[in-house]
Amino acid sequence: LGKELSESRHRAAQSKDGVKVSLRANVELPAEAILARDQGADGIGLYRTEFLYIDRSSPPSEDQQFEIFRAVVEALRPKPVTLRTFDIGGDKFVSTFQVPPEMNPMLGLRAVRLALSRPDVFLEHLRAMVRASAYGDVRIMIPMVAGLGELRQVRALLHRAQEQVRARGQACADEIPLGVMIEVPSAAIMVDHFAREAAFLSLGTNDLIQYALAVDRTSRSLAYLASPFDPSILRLITKVIQAGQDFGRPVSLCGAMASDPLAALLLLGLGLRDFSMEAAAIPEIKETLRRITVAEAEAVAAEALACATAEEVECCVAAAFAPDL
Ligand code: PEP
Ligand code: MG
Repeated sequence: LGKELSESRHRAAQSKDGVKVSLRANVELPAEAILARDQGADGIGLYRTEFLYIDRSSPPSEDQQFEIFRAVVEALRPKPVTLRTFDIGGDKFVSTFQVPPEMNPMLGLRAVRLALSRPDVFLEHLRAMVRASAYGDVRIMIPMVAGLGELRQVRALLHRAQEQVRARGQACADEIPLGVMIEVPSAAIMVDHFAREAAFLSLGTNDLIQYALAVDRTSRSLAYLASPFDPSILRLITKVIQAGQDFGRPVSLCGAMASDPLAALLLLGLGLRDFSMEAAAIPEIKETLRRITVAEAEAVAAEALACATAEEVECCVAAAFAPDL
């Protein structure tokens, strides 16, 4: 398998029966963009921009952010790069923003909520992204959206950032697709409305599992409860994929679930065609998806959706797919 994996970057990402899938990379540090390209990623599906705010007492300047975004976009060009607006708060890098201590930070001033509470800092961040859009295929994605109002507010700020960049005579793309992460249960429940108004949807299963099952994602003692195979999670994922199909919007999945081979096959059967994962996992998932036909995966997915517990789903998926892995 080692040789197959090292050669897999040259092969198409597709199922056994030739249905195309897109395998993109999750990136944290800018240097990882090169690794992603070398692993044969179809672009970057999640650039976690909050890492620019690590170990700092104040946010990076617009120019500093722009130079980093531009380098990442140029490294991947012409493949797409999805820049996620900073997901700070919860357990991540709050010191930059002096967020007051919270009793439940995972339910607190995090991600888009923090961004909207600091429009000055957020506009600098958006302008850096807007300027990078002149150098390749840039898309912008919003984390931890819980309601449609947040998407609308960010869209208004994005338009303002574009106007400000143009007014300075700087270049930017005419249209920058603005999508949302579906990682809060309320957004999954209301996903038809998000599919109508957002350019794309991306399932953040790390947080979706945390919030849907009420299990802190950092808790070791509760990790056994945080299963991507929980049928409640599969139902939410199915609803999101369906809404994407109904409204003609791309749906990707960028949680750790995408890089688990059994879960990836199950997701193929649920209708997912666009995965984003740490770059190092791409060759193995590409080889895994090539072993199963969509019809085979769909049959297992239908069985999994009828299960009552995560254990039943795991048994069903393992029994069906393990012989092929
Ligand atoms: C997720 O929640 O699944 C996700 C991809 O985002 P993060 O892990 O950065 O919260
Ligand atoms: Mg998340």
